[in-house]
Amino acid sequence: AKEAGRGGHAFFERFMFDEAEDNRLLEQDVREALSSNGLTLAYQPIIDASTGEIVAREALLRWRHPRRGDIPPDQFIPIIEDAGLIHQIGDWVIREACAQAARWDSRMRVAVNISAAQLSGAGLSKTVLGALASSRLEPSRLELEVTENVFLGDDAATLTSLERLRALGVRLVLDDFGKGYSSFGYLSRAQFSKIKIDQSFVRGAAEGSKDCVAIVHAILALARGLGVETTAEGVETEAQAEVMRCLGCAQLQGFHFGRPVPVEEFAGADEAVRHR
Ligand code: C2E
Ligand code: CA
Ligand code: CA
Ligand code: CA
Repeated sequence: AKEAGRGGHAFFERFMFDEAEDNRLLEQDVREALSSNGLTLAYQPIIDASTGEIVAREALLRWRHPRRGDIPPDQFIPIIEDAGLIHQIGDWVIREACAQAARWDSRMRVAVNISAAQLSGAGLSKTVLGALASSRLEPSRLELEVTENVFLGDDAATLTSLERLRALGVRLVLDDFGKGYSSFGYLSRAQFSKIKIDQSFVRGAAEGSKDCVAIVHAILALARGLGVETTAEGVETEAQAEVMRCLGCAQLQGFHFGRPVPVEEFAGADEAVRHR
């Protein structure tokens, strides 16, 4: 048993070492990607549930590693944060998304994800202000998506940051709503314009889970009461879309309506719609 214990320990240490080394290599690679346009944005449409029209697009960070291929943001964003690069990269995302959206139909919004680490710096509102000014994007066309994680750290600093952003006229969105445990409380802390209902409830409700239906129903009632918009996330089937529509969710997003794609794949389409 002792032997096995030691063996297990050695294995664990090796595993830890490899992961640390892995992250260090990735960190060098991401620095390189940043300076050589290796990071890009893909945009996923958000649909008006009653008209089917695209009302917004969410910008999602993409990294195609020269040897490892596509690395998902869930995996590389923590590395970026540990490396202290999140502000640099996050700022680029905001400027790039605003510059893109300024070329779209003037009713279309753009959504950008903001991590807790980004919000904790004092510079975010300056970046947003600069991005709005240089792109000439209407502030109300920019949505900043945060998860309730942002409330786990220094509450006062977070609230100040969120208020500063709202004062610029941008819209704050509470992402992954319902995924955590005490989401309802967070809604009263900052003035959110929209909440995004986590995919797990969309799935559950369509599979006939009474609990999920009840939760979605409650979230939508709450949102109506607060005058807050709602988007259902991760809608993959028409059945899921139908359930969310019936329950009264105003906007839908998911692979059923469109995957995140590079701007080249839809550029010009908005123009075509406008001149039709
Ligand atoms: P998120 O903000 O919740 O974004 C939605 C994720 O769900 C995206 O994954 C999207 O591709 C995926 N998705 C959309 N529709 C469907 C669907 O119908 N089914 C399924 N299974 N998935 C769907 P992605 O692009 O891998 O991003 C993962 C997370 O990484 C995002 O979750 C967000 O938290 C973070 N992220 C992405 N881009 C950025 C960024 O520029 N900055 C920051 N701070 N975080 C980002
Ligand atoms: Ca999001
Ligand atoms: Ca989400
Ligand atoms: Ca998520």
